[in-house]
Amino acid sequence: MMARWACGHCGFIAWADDREAMREVTGSHLLAHTPEAVTQSDFRTNWDCPYCATAKTAYDVDGAVEEFKAHLHEHVADRIVADAHVADRFDWDGTVRIDAPVDSDDADALRTHFHGHAELVIAVTPDPERFVRLLDDRLDAWPRRTVVVSTEAYRFDEEAAVDVEDGSIEVVELDPRLGPDELGETVSRIIDANHDAGDVLSLEVSVFHEIVSAFDVRTACGFVQMLSARLDDSGGSLQIYADGDADPNVSTAMNFLDGEIDLTLTPEDGRFIRRA
Ligand SMILES: [Zn+2]
Ligand SMILES: [Zn+2]
Repeated sequence: MMARWACGHCGFIAWADDREAMREVTGSHLLAHTPEAVTQSDFRTNWDCPYCATAKTAYDVDGAVEEFKAHLHEHVADRIVADAHVADRFDWDGTVRIDAPVDSDDADALRTHFHGHAELVIAVTPDPERFVRLLDDRLDAWPRRTVVVSTEAYRFDEEAAVDVEDGSIEVVELDPRLGPDELGETVSRIIDANHDAGDVLSLEVSVFHEIVSAFDVRTACGFVQMLSARLDDSGGSLQIYADGDADPNVSTAMNFLDGEIDLTLTPEDGRFIRRA
């Protein structure tokens, strides 16, 4: 679980490892709302807090700004919430877009955050071995049930180092000629076969770029809408990993899907940011 801080002036929300790690976020963000509070005169830097009567003057510009950020942090420190999960925002029933390179450490931090709190994990991934390794390395315990769906083969007997109980992971190898409709149906059947009442379901789609480039923007959007509607029945969090900077068509598709997405997150240095 993480610490969460929501700005009182705009829609910005940050999740960080703990309260201490949030210091790097709050002061800079609040300063950006009141740039006029810092002024230069003669050789000195002045700051004048808009929230209280405190004002300071110093010769050291960087030192003055850092001191002001630390001061601003204290105004909001008691609004930082502990033990928060990103999916609390929509009670584990919603669609999240993760705006980051799909195979980056930043994206992995979100994968771990979601899958580590689920009983049933389904991952549609281009690289099943990388996915299994990630969960094995990062999670304290495997979810009750993990189903990895990929067009790439993955044989467990070659990977004896993975520490998982027999039967708790299944790898479903897809025929690469199948389209998004068949993929959606496969995922739906996997949910039917594996989802027990009360299970928290975490569904990751890390092949959105492949679907957009192999088909078209409309088909890719239809796929996400269909999965999202499927999860309305069972409950669960759908995570779409989509790096708009890497592919303008992915960016276009995500714009179309705006109404479908409950939360867009940018992972940065172990923190998760929802911009205003
Ligand atoms: Zn703000
Ligand atoms: Zn103040």
